[in-house]
Amino acid sequence: MNTFSLAVHGGAGTILKANLTPPLEAEYHAGLRAALEAGHNVLASGGSAIDAVTAAVCALEDAPLFNAGRGAVFTSEGKQEMDAAIMDGATRAAGAVGGIFGPRNPIRAARAVMEHTDHVMLIGPNALNIARAADLPFADPDYFFTQSRWDALQSTLEMRAKGVEDDDPARRHGTVGAVACDTLGNVAAATSTGGMTAKAPGRIGDTPMIGAGTFADNATCAVSGTGHGEVFIRYTAAAEISARMRHAGQSLHDAADHVVMHDLAENDGSGGLIAVDAEGNITMPFNCDGMYRGSVTQDGKFETFIYR
Ligand code: ASP
Repeated sequence: MNTFSLAVHGGAGTILKANLTPPLEAEYHAGLRAALEAGHNVLASGGSAIDAVTAAVCALEDAPLFNAGRGAVFTSEGKQEMDAAIMDGATRAAGAVGGIFGPRNPIRAARAVMEHTDHVMLIGPNALNIARAADLPFADPDYFFTQSRWDALQSTLEMRAKGVEDDDPARRHGTVGAVACDTLGNVAAATSTGGMTAKAPGRIGDTPMIGAGTFADNATCAVSGTGHGEVFIRYTAAAEISARMRHAGQSLHDAADHVVMHDLAENDGSGGLIAVDAEGNITMPFNCDGMYRGSVTQDGKFETFIYR
């Protein structure tokens, strides 16, 4: 029997202590902790890694604080288009949705694609049909709306209208994710996001792309990323970590560190990721100021962090 472990993230970016009030800081810690508890409950009762990451990400999607599900950011046209993916390291089964709006928990829609179709990724009306067929709850626009995300869109659009470059990477960041290793040594990853504020309609990021923002394979690791999605895609960030472990014999820590601190950082790819291997080791590297993150292991030690 393995010992289980779980890590979660709530996005990375320009997260400076000076910009967060103590009450807001406390809210982030509580949000991360709730997600860890949701996943821990599954693992502690002998549940699977795939169920644990689903539970943890649902908790983060339900919290308006994070850019996924409720609280997702807005596109340049004032709509919300959500991406999510899930992967089971035991079988390399995967499911993903891109650009959807409606399901309360996009991660469950991704899981429905994995479990109820022959495909890996669905977009458009049929992604919603699969979610409906799986009896997933839907919510209306009021549920998903948050004033702070709307205000962020307005200020980004104002800057664009003036021809000012929006160079605050914090606007571009936000995503939630979880990785877990269960007592059988099976690993899984799940990631969910609203994407980037004022993104072009139809833009899909790294989150639902298997091997970019989400990946899991028992032979190596499970990874969930957050950051500048286009760079994660071009450097196949998550799959690269697995490849380094598989082909170069690197440890989880060394492989993840190389991808985040070199492949991504040196190519305008600010962000970070959480990863776990089949022995339950966890690593959480990031190359920007902060990343909302946390972990829990079988000994019941819950830890949450925001800054370096
Ligand atoms: N990676 C996400 C995307 O590009 C955003 C983020 O994680 O901050 O859609």
